[in-house]
Amino acid sequence: MKITKIPQSKFEINYKNIVKWSNYKDRIFNECKRKFLYKYVGVFLPPKTKEKVDFLKKLKTIKNWQGEVIHKYIDMSINIGSIEKALQNFENEFDSIMSNPADKIAEFYYGYQITNSQIKEIFDISIFALKNFWFFFINNIKKENIIFMDSKGIQEFFLDEITILYKPDLVCKDDDKIDVFDWKTYDIELEINQFKLYYFVFCSQGFETQCRVVSLYPSIKEERLSFDKNSIDEYKDFIRKSYDNIKKFMDDCRIFVHQDHENLFEEILEKFKQTDNKNICVKCEFRELCFGK
Ligand code: SF4
Repeated sequence: MKITKIPQSKFEINYKNIVKWSNYKDRIFNECKRKFLYKYVGVFLPPKTKEKVDFLKKLKTIKNWQGEVIHKYIDMSINIGSIEKALQNFENEFDSIMSNPADKIAEFYYGYQITNSQIKEIFDISIFALKNFWFFFINNIKKENIIFMDSKGIQEFFLDEITILYKPDLVCKDDDKIDVFDWKTYDIELEINQFKLYYFVFCSQGFETQCRVVSLYPSIKEERLSFDKNSIDEYKDFIRKSYDNIKKFMDDCRIFVHQDHENLFEEILEKFKQTDNKNICVKCEFRELCFGK
């Protein structure tokens, strides 16, 4: 279906959300403009493509899905004060997803090789990580100090006119001290900007802040992070530059949507170019739209 024009009001509502900044959005914008289009600029998509994009958006790699459900059941265990029910619910959700995995898990949807023993390993590691979390929690965290949990959703913070989105896993407050916790299922390399952002947000509110990254598998390992003023100033400049780039790009689109076009979607695809780095495509949930299945 051809689209030649988009109602101004519809575009403007989308525009406001698109230019809200996050570390993740910066990464996607720089990795692949086409992926940025599919993830954030749905207003440009014809109805059939949008329907497909909405489905593909929900696909997760098995490890991303695992990370997400572990965080969900960590929050549940804290809320109910027990790990047993959370473990049971995790097991039920795991069984239910694996009864029809192509609906949620990218590897299955795209027919990548994944063996039963790999699935079992994911399950075993998740149970182990949840139990390790609970051991860490009861020995290190007072429930009454918790002021934020992952399940509360995305938060906003402001730098100049920039709206910044962030979502820590757990935040505890004790007098003027803030501990920001991040749970990692695996001991993997940290995306340091994520922690700079938490540090910056809470220090800006006058708290002495510490980021505590806790790996939950194979054994509990904690790393504590804080940053000096220079690195936070540099990080703020990085945010400003990244925001300006995204905004400039979207401002060009804003002019573009007010003009008449033969086929706006074709021209939009030209504007939001595919990445040349095909390594990024391997794990991309939208690869069906770019290369077929
Ligand atoms: S498959 Fe590759 S080119 Fe297509 S949206 Fe994903 S990352 Fe971009």
